[in-house]
This record gives sequence, structure tokens and C-alpha cells, in this order.
Amino acid sequence: MKVTKLIPQGICKGVARAITIVNKELTNKNIIKPIYMIGNLVHNKNIMQGFIDKGIILINENDKKNALLKINKGTVIFTAHGVSKELINIAREKKLNIIDTTCTDVTKIHSLISSYIKENYSVIFLGVKNHPESNAIVNDFPVYFITEDSILEDLPKLTGNIILTNQSTMSYIKVKEIYYDLLKYYPNLILSEEVCPATRLRQEALINSNENADLIIVVGDKMSNNTKMLKAIGKTHNKKKTILLETVEDLNKYDLSEFQNCIITSGASTPFAVVQEIINALKTYDKNTKYISKLNTKDYLKLKG
Ligand code: SF4
Repeated sequence: MKVTKLIPQGICKGVARAITIVNKELTNKNIIKPIYMIGNLVHNKNIMQGFIDKGIILINENDKKNALLKINKGTVIFTAHGVSKELINIAREKKLNIIDTTCTDVTKIHSLISSYIKENYSVIFLGVKNHPESNAIVNDFPVYFITEDSILEDLPKLTGNIILTNQSTMSYIKVKEIYYDLLKYYPNLILSEEVCPATRLRQEALINSNENADLIIVVGDKMSNNTKMLKAIGKTHNKKKTILLETVEDLNKYDLSEFQNCIITSGASTPFAVVQEIINALKTYDKNTKYISKLNTKDYLKLKG
């Protein structure tokens, strides 16, 4: 099969930064134990397993506040998706050692919302329900939260200045569509589209990719929102058969022998080693082969391809 690899690939700067911060802290012999990670540092099972192997206790409860309230000593790691001030304050009051790996692109959205609220704007925030980034923002700010599926339900009556902004990993096309939909209800609505560069560049590369391809493969974790957005764009914008693979072993679920020309892209938390292993397999693809990954946790944690 002919394989065209879209650029960029590999772990984004926010995920790389989070991994680097945690790895650096883990080399500190005096780090206060036990070490808890409040939610997945990144939405990638392989990277997470690497941290669990290093002794980190992963707390994966939906109710992060409740989980934090049960911790009385040690270190808590907050994820690249951001954390609410409420959780930071609870950790401080409990005198826990805090490692905050919030991505700077997420911090920028918090600052943006804060400054518009200070100027008395009503803020409509587009995000994914129960996603940690949206949860932190909804917790910290009096925003009107909407999702892609709920925009026209129960729209609040808003007057004065109104702004629409969004979670960092949304589809930039969808954000614009939703903005134009909302303009019908709020004629003075302004848009501050905040899709992060790592997410946007991947989406643009896919939208502008080879029209002759007959298959799109998105590599990434099913939990990753920017990965899910790439899959949605492949289907609805490129209008091609689009499949999501987490590892090379997912190839065993499909018979791809009818496809000749494939485009491969990946989510911002997908290690490049995973993509490369899939590319190698596709080049000599045979539906009768049983694909087995030869990667180990060190490969997943390599920050460069
Ligand atoms: S996807 Fe974007 S917002 Fe999320 S960690 Fe990467 S750079 Fe930051």
C-alpha cells in the first residue's frame, strides 16, 4: 500500500513538556511519596503505563475533587489539560507537593476568559462534556458551556458584549460553523477561536491532503479529543473511509486489502514510534499477517521520531 505520512507527527510540545516535568521530578530522590497522578497525564495508554511502571499511582475517578479529598500526604500531579483553582487550593490546604503540568496553550485560554469576564463580557465556552480541560474552566469561571451537540438547546438570553471561545482540541472548522450558527441568535457575538497550534496544524494537513487517497488512518488513543476530531474531519470533510488505530495490533481488526493509497495522521499525544510501526506494517500489508507490536515503554516515551 502507498502510505503518505502527514506532518506534523509525534508528541506535541504540551505533552512533551508534561512528560519532561514529571520525569525530571521522578529523578529527585527527595520527592515526597506516594506520588498520585490526578487523571491521565495525557490521553495515551502506553505513556500512562510507563508512569505506572515507575510507581506513580493513577487516580482515574471522574470526581477529581472527591479523589483529592481522600489524599492526605505525598505529591499530586495535575495534567496537561489544566486544573481548576479549587483543586489547586485543596492540594495547598492539605500541604501536598504539587506538580502542575498544565499546557501553556490551556493556561492562555484560562487567562483569556478571565480577562473578558473582568470586562463584563458573557462568555460562551465550547467544549467536550466531562473533558478535564472543560471541567476546569467551567469550575473556575461563570461561562455558558456548550457542546457540539447542545448548541441550540436552552440558549441563554444574553445581552451586552458576548464572546465565544473553545477548548483547545476542538475542530477549528466546527468552531467556525458553531460561531455562525450562534450569530443568528447573538448578532454582536465575537469569536476568539483558541484551537491550539498542534491540533490545528494536524487538522489543516488532513484537510489539504491528497485527494486521491482512498483510506485515512488516524493513529491515537480513543480517549484523546484531538485524535477524535481528526477522525471526524476525515469522515465528514475529506469524505473518505477513516479508521482509528491505537497500535499496529489494531490492524488485525480490519481487512484493508482493497485500499491502495493511504494517508496517515496522528493525535498530538501519539508517540511517533507507534506511527512508524504502523507505516512499516502498511507498506507490506497483508490481511493474513498477524501484527504484533514490538515497541516497549521506552519507545513510547521517546519525544522525537
Ligand atoms: S494538544 Fe495542544 S493544548 Fe493539548 S497539550 Fe498539546 S499543545 Fe497543549
